[in-house]
Amino acid sequence: MPSRGTMADVSPDFDDDAWISFVRGVLPAPDANLMRAHLDRRCVACQPTHQTWKRFVETVSPDVPDVPAESANRSIKALFTLMRCIPFSAGVALLAKRVFDSSLDPSPVGIRGSSVSARQLQYEAGDYLIDLQLERRTGGAGTLVGQVVHAWREGASCGAGVVLLQEGAVVGQTCANSLGEFQFDFAHRDNLRIGLGIPDGVLIDVPLSDVGEVASVIWNIQGLVITITISGRANDHLRGAIIQAMSSPEFPRMPAVVMDMRYATENPTPDQLRLRAGWIATLLSRRSGSRCALVVGARPHHYGLARILSVCLETEGIQTEVFTNISEAKRWLTPARGRKGHDCASG
Ligand SMILES: [Zn+2]
Repeated sequence: MPSRGTMADVSPDFDDDAWISFVRGVLPAPDANLMRAHLDRRCVACQPTHQTWKRFVETVSPDVPDVPAESANRSIKALFTLMRCIPFSAGVALLAKRVFDSSLDPSPVGIRGSSVSARQLQYEAGDYLIDLQLERRTGGAGTLVGQVVHAWREGASCGAGVVLLQEGAVVGQTCANSLGEFQFDFAHRDNLRIGLGIPDGVLIDVPLSDVGEVASVIWNIQGLVITITISGRANDHLRGAIIQAMSSPEFPRMPAVVMDMRYATENPTPDQLRLRAGWIATLLSRRSGSRCALVVGARPHHYGLARILSVCLETEGIQTEVFTNISEAKRWLTPARGRKGHDCASG
């Protein structure tokens, strides 16, 4: 087994495939015996190489999914190459370009329904196409489901190495399955980045740094009640969410709005809040007497923002009340008898 300028390239005596097969216990007996005998002679070059591969294969093996057995080696190599190149220095990896973002597309195709918590993103890098879907859970945590495929070579991405980076540190590693699919859970969405190591040697860098912010406004329609949830920072994405909600076939004829800001970490200016009140008024068709419930965390900062926003909303003719409990907020919004004379709360 001659060396061929291998990736581990610290051992002159065996190549990467031999090491990976040896460590995985799939090397034919004669070759395996040869390597064992060689290691028993305490070759100073091979011992650390053996340790490196052993540790690496032990770490990633449970994550190598349904790739065919004969592809497992190239899959492990792809991930190893990728890990050695992280963080990417300039020019090492193809920088993926975003070509589609569902949050910027006001058409409701594929996002119809009572709950829109997933955001679809598409990227291109060389001949590779990357599809990502971000699903949000409460408090900023979520799941990232992805697929990388070659534009015309089927199976090229089978077993690709994939790492998830956050603030430049590796927070997850896996191998894509036979269809190039992979999945990660993450605790918060800020400054995420994906590194891909395709078995053919191509490295791809997918920056998701702005994803956390853009995905942080979601909407949901239940009967008459439209719930808009801000997690982290809304920035100007509230507008996009409102346009999406308004183009939904489930948009109610006489809507009421819950602004759920319990998970917001932003600090909007009074001008920005005034702008938001305008968008909420648009959502409520500027019908006077419409209701908007503001739900905030039990924090002075949140109360302060809610108070300013409710003043702006009342200027728009919208009845507003501030809650810390979302069920109470929804109860207040549900049209009920004897509610007609309700006072406009200013928070
Ligand atoms: Zn050796």
